[in-house]
Amino acid sequence: MRLPELRAEVARYAKKMSASGLVRATQGNLSARDPDSGLICLTPSGADYDLLTADDIVVVDAEGNVVEGRWKPTTELPLHTLILRRRPDVHCVMHTHSPYTTAFGVVYQPVPMILQDSALCLGGAVPVAPYRMSGTPEFAEMIADTLGSGSAVIWGNHGAMVVGADLALTYATAHALEDSAHIYAIAAQLGTPVHLPDDEVARLHRLWREHYGQKALTARPEPATDDQE
Ligand SMILES: [Zn+2]
Repeated sequence: MRLPELRAEVARYAKKMSASGLVRATQGNLSARDPDSGLICLTPSGADYDLLTADDIVVVDAEGNVVEGRWKPTTELPLHTLILRRRPDVHCVMHTHSPYTTAFGVVYQPVPMILQDSALCLGGAVPVAPYRMSGTPEFAEMIADTLGSGSAVIWGNHGAMVVGADLALTYATAHALEDSAHIYAIAAQLGTPVHLPDDEVARLHRLWREHYGQKALTARPEPATDDQE
């Protein structure tokens, strides 16, 4: 994908994050890496999702130096670049404030695997990182360490972060996480939620990785807007 198309895709998915309730107002941020050039397209600091266009998306190199763009990148820049440097399998980093997931981060309880769809892409209970003020290199290290080789991590007293091979998979995984947290909260009022067995979660996630493993290297997102070629 050419860089202008990736910028348009980042703007489009950022709007989808806002429209679907993963973030409100100017919360959250999103990045996607161009696997060919290694350049990273990020939402700007304080992005107004309603007005966001491809021109507002900032392009940085692997170290976070701005290559293109008229705004400052998101304040979580150190985290995005660190995750993308550490995880060659990851090309997209999404930070959300989805409410049910965030609630688990307020009671410091991992989101368990209770739904087949979520187990497929998440592959295990989603851990909660301790509270630290975000936006610093130290915070980035702590979140990256808690994420490890996983797909998501909840930020204590703050929100969550989901990573993936491309924008579409990452967006779907962010909703799978929020669905799990939401359904768990409902189920816990009805009775005792039953967790999926660990070996079944592992089997489902293995199937998902086999299916999407190659897609990670060859993915081309669905057509964006009428300004594409
Ligand atoms: Zn946040």
